[in-house]
Amino acid sequence: MIEQLKEQYVQMGIDPVIYNYASEIEAQLIERFAEIDAVAEYNQMKVIKAMQKNRVSAECFHSSSGYGYNDLGRDTLELVYADCFHAQAALVRPQITCGTHALALALMSNLRPGDELLSPVGKPYDTLEEVIGIRPSKGSLAEYGISYRQVDLLEDGSFDYDGIRAAINEKTKLVTIQRSKGYLMRKTLSVKEIGALISFVKQINPNIICMVDNCYGEFVETIEPSDVGADMIVGSLIKNPGGGLAPVGGYIVGKRACVENAAYRLTSPGLGKEVGASLGVIQSFYQGLFQAPVVVSGALKGAIFAARLYEKLGFQVLPDGTESRHDIIQAIALESPERLCAFCEGIQAGAPVDSYVTPEPWDMPGYDSKVIMAAGAFVQGSSIELSADGPLKPPYNVYFQGGLTWYHAKLGIMMSLQKLYERNLVNKTLL
Ligand SMILES: *Cc1c(COP(=O)(O)O)cnc(C)c1O
Repeated sequence: MIEQLKEQYVQMGIDPVIYNYASEIEAQLIERFAEIDAVAEYNQMKVIKAMQKNRVSAECFHSSSGYGYNDLGRDTLELVYADCFHAQAALVRPQITCGTHALALALMSNLRPGDELLSPVGKPYDTLEEVIGIRPSKGSLAEYGISYRQVDLLEDGSFDYDGIRAAINEKTKLVTIQRSKGYLMRKTLSVKEIGALISFVKQINPNIICMVDNCYGEFVETIEPSDVGADMIVGSLIKNPGGGLAPVGGYIVGKRACVENAAYRLTSPGLGKEVGASLGVIQSFYQGLFQAPVVVSGALKGAIFAARLYEKLGFQVLPDGTESRHDIIQAIALESPERLCAFCEGIQAGAPVDSYVTPEPWDMPGYDSKVIMAAGAFVQGSSIELSADGPLKPPYNVYFQGGLTWYHAKLGIMMSLQKLYERNLVNKTLL
């Protein structure tokens, strides 16, 4: 079987040198993978338990149209999400178009003119700069008279508690905490660390709403920020909780009052959660959530495998191959544009969809350098599927994430190394 497997990889374009090197790395990860599997198993039970408790049935998979009144599937799914994340309520909708939209919705519906928003963990995700109005934009919070403050993390990545205490004032209404590093070279926050930060904020003023941008974090640990005091957690269904099957959507889970505010903003005052047709996608939301713990475990294995693979070749990786994981993103500093492009070409070449295309760097709106992206996904832009991107500027970091199955993640990563190997962009003596 081992020989057959090797032959299969060779036929797919992997050099035996790469295959052998990757096999050695994989063999060192047995214990790590077992831990990941245990978390996935725990989270799988969490999801099934929430589905059973809410009596999910075949009727839940019917589609609604028009106003979408009395949509049993939609309403039950929201109960399932609320239970799964141990919260009071949830809004899980295809009308929430992406993660940024979900975050904007949570912010705009819970803040009022004169309120202040605080980020105690530094600069938020790029797209939120326009939502907040850090970069002027039509319809931003700033346009509505909602001010913003930010306290950066300290040099060592820890919270600046003195700075946070000083920043909180009588206007502070909502604190936003981004769990994932996003596209920054900072640490991803663990749920435990987020819990400590929330306790600190609540001690100063228990009425401050604590919101967590949970993108890329769902099901990585056995607890979620909603287990440690977050009033709202927010994310995208084309990332972890959609399990690769949800074709669109976002969620807001948390305190009833917060979720209601969001529902009245998403649809209309007076209508709230009562409307919003599910248009045939709801079954994929259920199936995706059901699969999500295992899909996330595959993505995590891929991230750790890649960290080890590239670390041993002398590249700086974040997180490193041994650190505990709190999201599914892996950053690798490739240190040359040629390597960055070769890496992305490899990821693309290993994809089930669009494997024959060559990714090219392009001038993406909002970025100050060219960006290269690789993705061969079933759902457009889905980043729970194996995908990679990086800005063409030093240190030529590639950020990659996802993989609907561990085997696909493994192939994509081996293929990335194959491309570097073919072009003499790695130290071959280390292989
Ligand atoms: C992906 C992401 C977002 C925004 O999500 P989109 O779906 O791309 O709009 C926000 N915050 C973080 C940390 C993310 O990873």
